[in-house]
Amino acid sequence: MIDIRDISLSFGGNKALDGVTFSVEPGETLALIGPNGAGKSTVFNVISRFYRPSAGSVTFGDTDILKLQAHQIAALGIARTFQNIELFENATVLQNLLVGRSARTSSNWAREFFFAGSTRAGERQARRKVEEVLDLLDLQHLRSEIVRDLPYGARKNVELARAVCAEPTLLLLDEPASGLNPEEVADMAFWLQDIREELGITILMVEHNMGLVARLATRCIALASGRVLAHGSVAEVQADREVQKAYLGT
Ligand code: ADP
Ligand code: MG
Repeated sequence: MIDIRDISLSFGGNKALDGVTFSVEPGETLALIGPNGAGKSTVFNVISRFYRPSAGSVTFGDTDILKLQAHQIAALGIARTFQNIELFENATVLQNLLVGRSARTSSNWAREFFFAGSTRAGERQARRKVEEVLDLLDLQHLRSEIVRDLPYGARKNVELARAVCAEPTLLLLDEPASGLNPEEVADMAFWLQDIREELGITILMVEHNMGLVARLATRCIALASGRVLAHGSVAEVQADREVQKAYLGT
């Protein structure tokens, strides 16, 4: 589905990514793990075209992603969440999801959303999708709430919903469980499972909560200092000596 080959990227003298190669297969939930500063978010920022790598290639199906602009990535079928939640704080949950939806169908989503330039049929379809996602992620009761008034855990779920509304084939999740309490992590696990099973979305997920990773991931890749240290099943990667050393910092 997506093929990342030999990507490197430095910030000043700091090599954030140093020849990273891996691919994501359709239908899998691939976990990207590694200590802080390993380069995990940078990989996401390369895929979503926020950062340009100094070397390497990223192909999504037959498309060379590095030739595209950031705003064209959503239309291709790739959606993401952020390590720090990024939502329209002063808008309602429903409005945020409608914006998320239009990211898929228009390169100029703001015009479509705010000036209603879309067709009636397109608008009905968008509303249907948003209702489906509100149901799937148990958000109906919060639909009219202003995002900034919601507790952190709920905002995390709204951000997930916003990304799902774009109808991605590939969903990039940057630490979906960070900051959640154990009960909220359990809910998140169910929602991610539903997204995968009911919507058939392929997931690439950065996550530190190894309980969640073990439960959801079909495969795991460990990064440290901008390099792939190990890949395989979650158990194999957790048992890897190099991975353990990277976490201990020895
Ligand atoms: P992770 O998500 O695995 O914790 P990051 O991908 O955020 O790690 O960061 C990898 C390295 O790149 C770190 O050393 C970080 O400080 C550096 N880095 C990431 N983004 C930037 C940036 N915009 N400017 C400068 N350095 C950055
Ligand atoms: Mg990160």
